[in-house]
Formats: sequence, structure tokens, C-alpha cells
Amino acid sequence: MGFGMRAALRRSGSGLLALIVSAGLFSTDAASADGTPAKELFGARALPTAAAPTSYGFYSKGCLAGGIAIPTDGPTWQAMRLSRNRRWGHPEMIALIERFSHDAAERIGWPGLLLGDISQPRGGPMLSGHASHQIGLDADVWLTPMPQKTLSYQERESISATSMLDKSRFLTIDRSVWTPSHARLIMLAASYPEVERVFVNPAIKKKLCDSWRGDRAALGKVRPIYGHDYHFHIRMKCPAGSKGCKDQAAVPAGDGCDKSLAWWFTDEPWAKPKKKPGEKPPKPKFATLADLPKACALVLNGPAPASEQQATYGTAYRAPAAIPAAATSIESVIGAAAEAPLASVPVPLPRPALQ
Ligand SMILES: [Zn+2]
Repeated sequence: MGFGMRAALRRSGSGLLALIVSAGLFSTDAASADGTPAKELFGARALPTAAAPTSYGFYSKGCLAGGIAIPTDGPTWQAMRLSRNRRWGHPEMIALIERFSHDAAERIGWPGLLLGDISQPRGGPMLSGHASHQIGLDADVWLTPMPQKTLSYQERESISATSMLDKSRFLTIDRSVWTPSHARLIMLAASYPEVERVFVNPAIKKKLCDSWRGDRAALGKVRPIYGHDYHFHIRMKCPAGSKGCKDQAAVPAGDGCDKSLAWWFTDEPWAKPKKKPGEKPPKPKFATLADLPKACALVLNGPAPASEQQATYGTAYRAPAAIPAAATSIESVIGAAAEAPLASVPVPLPRPALQ
């Protein structure tokens, strides 16, 4: 290592990782040499890597450097399931969640967000749940509004969210729990230019297709997916400066209320995968460190900040003195969610056996 680089390292401190990665200086670490599942390695890290904030890889195969945690409590949110330690994200994602929660309160009157998983401190695969959420740019938001009171640690572990589905019918919204505010909340999330996609249950997408009278372009970003009836999922585009971050293919043009949605109301997505006679069950596959982008070994083994406090955005966050009353209606901002006639609601079909 030359003098210039040593001086640069002394100067940069937290920029060290970016420097090593950009200079291509890379050595295989002991942890990467064996076949330990990457989820065990990343799941064991309690603090982020102190480095310039960077998302490496893809939403379902990558890691996060320089992550920060959203505070457990804000003026317009409460983080749930704190024991999981998954309230970490790219600083731009954390800022977006804070802004979204504030906008939702101000414009829709949504009393606050209950936040589900974002990412682990260093991103990466997780020991339970989620294929994605690996690069600090995915966040789950409950479809249950935040209660007035501050929930205790124990309540945040045990309270369950409410499903928006009528479980007695196939892919149908429960009209006793779904409200136009839910539609506005999801569409507000989709309206931010930095939001890449919003994932919801096909029944929710169908409901929006049938009832949304506002901006249909933002509706195209709302994508149907399995589950996601208790919460919805916000995915952010790769932030500028995350050179190792792979964007997802852009959503097709249009509102998505088309064949791609109709497919979910056929048997195909719900059919059990067919097994050939005599076929052995597939071996469970897991990613090792070698399967992830190279930078993830450095992210995994890089230095942590001195304390969680240092890595938590909360100290820097300035809450507005008070949430102003809805001066502008959400309709004027993102359009109205009028209730539409039920003519095009999917015909109930027998629920196929799933799982
Ligand atoms: Zn999610």
C-alpha cells in the first residue's frame, strides 16, 4: 500500500469500504471460504457497517453498507417486532419512510404507520421470511393504522395486523375492513418518483383498479403478489451513488389492470407444483457469501459504528412541531379513490388448496 493510499485511508475513515471496493482491493475472508449460509452470517450482525451508504446487488441478492435505523418511534410511526432488528435501511429509504408517514398523516389523515421489516443492519439474506429486503430499499408497512397510544415492546411483538381479505371467498376484499383511506395510503406510496414498485395482494390491486379515480400511471407501480394482504411493501429505486445496485426492470406502461392482473384470478398461480413420479424432493438451496456481490464480504466484516445511537437516524430527525390539519385534500394531490360499482369484482371461485 503506497503512502497516498494510506493517507487517504486515514482521512476517509468511514469511506474506507468504498475505497477498497472501488480500488478492486479485495481478499477472500475466512468467513467466505466455507459454505455457511449467508443468512446466518448476516443475521448475526447487530450493527451496520460504518461506510458510505451503498446498496450492493439486487433486492433479493445483496447487502447494505452504511445502513441507518429508523427510530422505534416517530411522530407518525411506530416500528413493530423490534426483536427482529430489521428496521435498518439505506438512509434515503429511511428518509422516504419518514416523509411518507408524515404526508400520510397530513394529507390523508392516516394516524401513523406501523412499520414491519425493512432490512437487517448489513442487509443480506434473512433467517426467516422475505426473499428480498436485502439491500435496504424494501419496507413493509402494515395496513393496520397506528393506534393513538405508544405500544409497549411486548405489544409490538404480539399484536397482529388485520387482513384486508374476506377469507371465505377467493381473492376478495373484506369490505368491513377496507376503506378508501387504505387506497389513498397505497397510492400515496406509489406516487413518489423514487418508489420503484409497491407490492399488494391481487385482491387489493383489483380493488384499486376498480375504484381508483386518480392518477392511473402511479397505479401501474402497484404490483400484485402473493400474500401482502396484512401489509404492503414499498420498494425504492437504486439511490444515486449506489453503483453496485441493480435496478429492477421498469414496470410495463399502463395501470396494470390488465392480463397480468387477470392471471392471478385463474387457477394457475395457486396450483401445487407438479412432481414427476419418482422425483426426489429438491435439496434446499441457500445463498453463501460467494453467491452475493463481492462487496458483501467486506460489508459483512467491516467495522461497526461505535454505538447503535451513532447509527440511528433518530438523533438527527426533527419532528414537525405539530402535524397540521389536512389543508389540502389528498384528492387534489394524488386523485380521488371513489368507490366504484361492484360489477367488475372477481367472481368468487372455490379457494384452491394452498400449502
Ligand atoms: Zn416485504
